[in-house]
Amino acid sequence: MPRSEPAPLVIAVDGPAAAGKGTLARRLAAHYGLRHLDTGALYRATALRLLRANGDPAHEAAAEAAARNVTAADLDDPALREEEVGQAASVVATHGAVRVALLDYQRTFAAEPPGAVLDGRDIGTVVCPEAQVKFYLEATAEVRAERRLCELRSRGVESIESSVLEEIIARDVRDSRRSAAPLKPAADASRIDTTALGPDEVFEQAVATVDSRLSST
Ligand code: C5P
Repeated sequence: MPRSEPAPLVIAVDGPAAAGKGTLARRLAAHYGLRHLDTGALYRATALRLLRANGDPAHEAAAEAAARNVTAADLDDPALREEEVGQAASVVATHGAVRVALLDYQRTFAAEPPGAVLDGRDIGTVVCPEAQVKFYLEATAEVRAERRLCELRSRGVESIESSVLEEIIARDVRDSRRSAAPLKPAADASRIDTTALGPDEVFEQAVATVDSRLSST
């Protein structure tokens, strides 16, 4: 009898902006030999396409059309990291039609062997509810704003701490109050509060969780 391939290993990493999802997801992917998808980049790429065409992120049909045109190459554009693009991304992400348009890309990515680590807002709840391991990272808005400020400064972008904090809070509110796939922990997610933890400590906790989950299956 042909030996069946093991099911792809899928790890979901969700949480609000600057909670440490991207760093953890990249490290987990490298550690377990999986591919990594930053799903926020899909929403940012949708927003960037719209902004460049002078479109309105609040306009659902225009945002859906932009989402349907997103390609893998769009995800490498350095302009995706701009704060204005992040804000517009959280507006396009409120549209159900945009979320549906981006679903296939994410699920196809996750389903390819040997599997993947996906980070975002709704991976454990909507995109990959069957993921073998799910994390939900959180941290106070103040600490997340400080981290975002450091990241912006390291890229040579000068910003005011209070306005970065305001933007983080505005994005939290929009992401968690929207009706389409709102930001919330999956019932079976392991929650990690990263407020007082460094990236190594978060990674070690997460690896311990993944290893114990894998050894029990
Ligand atoms: O994670 P990042 O800051 O790049 O995400 C930008 C925006 O994209 C988020 O504020 C959120 O509104 C949206 N997003 C989403 N679902 C995901 C990933 C990102 O709604 N899975």
